[in-house]
Amino acid sequence: MKIYSKKELNQYSLSLTYDDISLIPLEISQVKTRNEINTRTTVAGVEVSVPVISSPMDTVTGIEMAKELSNLGCIGILNRFNSSLSELVGSGNLIEGIKAVSISLTAEDSIIAPLAERGIIICIDTANANNAFVLRKCEEIKSRYNSKVIVGNIAHGSTLKQLVDAGADAVRIGIGGGSVCTTSVQTGIGIGQVSSLLDVYFTKLEQKLDIVLIADGGIKSPGDVAKALACGADVVMLGRMLAGTKETPGEVIKYNDQLWKKYRGSASFGVKMKNEFIEGEETLVPYKGAVKNVINGISDGLRSAMSYLNCNSLKELNNIDSFAVLSTSSYLERLPRK
Ligand code: IMP
Repeated sequence: MKIYSKKELNQYSLSLTYDDISLIPLEISQVKTRNEINTRTTVAGVEVSVPVISSPMDTVTGIEMAKELSNLGCIGILNRFNSSLSELVGSGNLIEGIKAVSISLTAEDSIIAPLAERGIIICIDTANANNAFVLRKCEEIKSRYNSKVIVGNIAHGSTLKQLVDAGADAVRIGIGGGSVCTTSVQTGIGIGQVSSLLDVYFTKLEQKLDIVLIADGGIKSPGDVAKALACGADVVMLGRMLAGTKETPGEVIKYNDQLWKKYRGSASFGVKMKNEFIEGEETLVPYKGAVKNVINGISDGLRSAMSYLNCNSLKELNNIDSFAVLSTSSYLERLPRK
């Protein structure tokens, strides 16, 4: 079997995603216990202890989720759809623990200024960062304020330098890979998450660009988190893995003797509520209880992966250079059987 380096994986003839690859430990690990492993990093000026950001979707991140993730050493990005943002800005009382807030392309200065003045990260939440108006908005915010700005999304490194030149501090990588995303079906756009990440990662290295890479969409398990970070992401953004937890906005629904919560795409009909072009679905996910348990599971899985790979820090995980490309049956063999 061929062991692929990151560079070789980036040159693979087909577009790859998390289920297509696996991480291969090649060294005797010097790690004694998972607990000694450090998963701390800094994302757009904010220290995190687990490299997880919640997606700014209306069924994922409201005030409660943002606050709890902050307590857990992660970042929650408040969504721009429901009333929480205007509540927050309107009250003049920006709640303790809110580290990041998403805004739309048309957000006025009356919304942006109070966030920027408090050092809150601003996420310009659009489907396509490769757009002149997104770049202009980013430039505008960066020229007026000292805040960190996240833009997105991109699926390839071809425009990374233009985003950096516009002042972007971090970029969301992934088009078409989200679990409630119908972009690829509706438009034919998008490539596998692993290929997207690798292309952007190598562009960043080769052009010596300073920007945080956020792996966004398609992450289903702690193992996928480890794969994303090993492919060069600095941090992951999660929608479905956090959906259904107690802290997400929305009611718990009892249906067929089971508890559920709603999860829907930002471009779904449920969010837009008008006859516009729809690029997202709406679904129910099982109720999961406290988000703390999900984050602890990710942290444990990540530490265990790092222990196998003899990595003490996320920087070392970022530098992993040994991957397998899986056949379909090899992928299936990896899954537990009933
Ligand atoms: P998940 O973690 O696989 O569920 O993916 C979450 C990501 O899907 C988000 O962070 C967005 O980048 C993306 N996304 C959210 N809503 C939509 C949508 O309606 N259409 C396409 N992509 C979406």
